[in-house]
This record gives sequence, C-alpha cells and structure tokens, in this order.
Amino acid sequence: MAAGPNAAAGPARSPVKLVFLGPPGSGKGTQAEVLAEQLGVSHISTGAMLRDAVADGSDLGKKVDGIMRSGALVDDDTMAEVVRDRLAKDDARQGFILDGYPRTLPQAETLGTILSGLSGRGAALDAVVLIDVPEEELVRRALARQRADDKEEVVRERLRVYREKTEPLIDHYRGRGLLRAVDGDATIDQVTSRILGAID
Ligand code: AMP
Repeated sequence: MAAGPNAAAGPARSPVKLVFLGPPGSGKGTQAEVLAEQLGVSHISTGAMLRDAVADGSDLGKKVDGIMRSGALVDDDTMAEVVRDRLAKDDARQGFILDGYPRTLPQAETLGTILSGLSGRGAALDAVVLIDVPEEELVRRALARQRADDKEEVVRERLRVYREKTEPLIDHYRGRGLLRAVDGDATIDQVTSRILGAID
C-alpha cells in the first residue's frame, strides 16, 4: 500500500483502511489510537462505541451492557448495524483503523460487504494487523489492568471467546494475503514501529 509514516501529508493518497486484531491485553487499542493519529485516519473502536452507548443509557447501551460485563460478544446483527452506520460517516471515508471489529467470521463477511458497498476509491482493506503477545504476558498485563470488566473470570472469558471466535480470522485474512503479524511483546513505541514497518 502507499501509506507510510508520512502518508498523512499527501492529499492524493487513497484512504488507508486497516483492521487491528489481537487478544484482550495485546495493546491493540493503544496501537490503533497511536497509528490512527500518525496516519491521519479515524480510530474506530467498537468496544469504545459500545461503552459510550452504555454510558448514554441508549437502547443499544441497554441491550449490550450485561453482555459486555460477562465478557461475551454482542450478536453479529447488532454489530453489523453499529459498524455500517459508523463507516458511512464522512471521516471514515478518509480512512480508518478498525479496532475490535470484526471479531467473528460472519463479521468479517459483513465487513467485506459493507466496504464493497461504499462508493469511492479503493473500497477493500489494505491490511489486517495481528498483534501477537504470549499467553503469560497477557495474563500479567490483565492482572495489572484496572477496567471495570477486568475481573479475573471476565478476563478469562474474554480470552476464551477470542480463541474460539476471533482467532479463526487469522487464517481467514492470511488466506487473502492481508495478514501482517507483529510481535507485540515490547514497548509501545517499539510495537508502533514494527506495525509501521509491517504495513509499509
Ligand atoms: P473491546 O474494548 O474491543 O475489548 O470490547 C469490549 C466488549 O465490547 C467486548 O468484550 C464485547 O462484549 C463487545 N464488543 C466489541 N466489539 C465487538 C464485536 N465486534 N463483536 C461483538 N462484541 C463486541
């Protein structure tokens, strides 16, 4: 793809469209935020959108609150609606990093359909970045985290759900030549550089 560390400077570039994959605690959200800023594209975190909905007490928030607390996944149809609406916004057309979506094979199919339905240049994804972190390090990080849904049994459930539902996406995207695996067991800055190297 055409994007690099200085890509935000060029008005003629085609929009950068990336998906970030990784287990809970991999630093995926942090990296998505840093990279979106550096590349000048929108950071779209479905987890953050759902947490906002819960905080607002909207119908969506009421629907997903208990599910999120348990560490389970929100159903694919609900997520399709959330993501379709978000990707239709103007800023997303200038490029995005999707953080936390897709998380299941049906969601990956839905994302493909949504993107191919959007008008404009280069609708397809440029790359899917996998942030790989060893299990012991994930556990260590989880114990150090403070978030409300980080009770130990919820952490375990989130990891189990990741293995069962989300890991199959690795082969799915590898088979499409889109996967860029990055070793996430390093400092934030080091991982950011590795990702930039992997997507250049
Ligand atoms: P995250 O901040 O990405 O870890 O997401 C927090 C929680 O939001 C997850 O544990 C799920 O309950 C829910 N969630 C976020 N994104 C999705 C998604 N793509 N599919 C289903 N549930 C999701």
